[in-house]
Amino acid sequence: MSEFVIAVHGGAGAWRLGVGREALEDVIRRALQKGAEVMRSGSCLEAVVEAIASLEDSGILNAGVGSTLDYLGRVSMDAGLMRSDGRAGAVALVTYPRNPIRLAKIVMERTPHVLIAGPEADELARRMGLERHPGPSERALAKWRELRERPESEWVRARIEAATALGYDTVGAVALGPDGCLAAGASTGGVSLKLPGRIGDSPVPGAGFYANENIAVSATGIGETILLSMSSLRLADAYLQVGELEEALERVVSDHSKRWGLNTLGLIAVTRRGEVGGRYNAEAMPWGYMKGGEIRVLGIPA
Ligand code: ASP
Repeated sequence: MSEFVIAVHGGAGAWRLGVGREALEDVIRRALQKGAEVMRSGSCLEAVVEAIASLEDSGILNAGVGSTLDYLGRVSMDAGLMRSDGRAGAVALVTYPRNPIRLAKIVMERTPHVLIAGPEADELARRMGLERHPGPSERALAKWRELRERPESEWVRARIEAATALGYDTVGAVALGPDGCLAAGASTGGVSLKLPGRIGDSPVPGAGFYANENIAVSATGIGETILLSMSSLRLADAYLQVGELEEALERVVSDHSKRWGLNTLGLIAVTRRGEVGGRYNAEAMPWGYMKGGEIRVLGIPA
């Protein structure tokens, strides 16, 4: 079998590590292994879905089971994915599925739409027999209670400032299949204490994720800045211009920092040629990749 590449991330931000480094590394490693396992028998899209589902199930990252809570203490999740043939599926503000990324795949494969949001998306998850989300984790509730003890002015004043200060740890994956297919995806509980109804970049193609015949990209950071910059699409365009992944990543992340400041963006990507890279302007971004059968884990916070 010819080579495949898969990369995953666990979110860029001002990490407040509530778990040991080893546990975090382990979660990244397991997601890569899961993705690789699926890639051996399936497609790049399935590899991305299974890698993300494994991160959603970890409980220590801000997606799926470990999702952070909104202003009212509720879980609401966004997720999306895209394949190099231009097909995409996404869901926003969902509360029902344990694995929103699986619902995004259903939207892509079984409906004529790209993005379905809210109670109707939950209803679709129910009808399709997806596993149900267990509700807010103890960890997310404890964090939410602690944040609620702060004066309100401190955390609703500015969404962007709050997100920067509080950290965020969305998940994502990108993959290049042995047949040359590329896929990208993202999944998140959104930023902590977001206003109910807020949707970030993660379910928006071109913003939180993007794939074309050259490159697959997944983004993390402050969704508002990523939406306004269309960061994943921007990286795809930069790659087309410079023809080299590291330089394209450097260009997009440094432009983003100039416009929006630090702690706003992280990107991982894989190209048709098998280049793989990650770049962020935050304190940390746990990420890793598997290439040629070897796993590397990087960006773990100190
Ligand atoms: N981009 C996500 C959002 O704004 C947050 C994150 O990446 O951690 O919803």
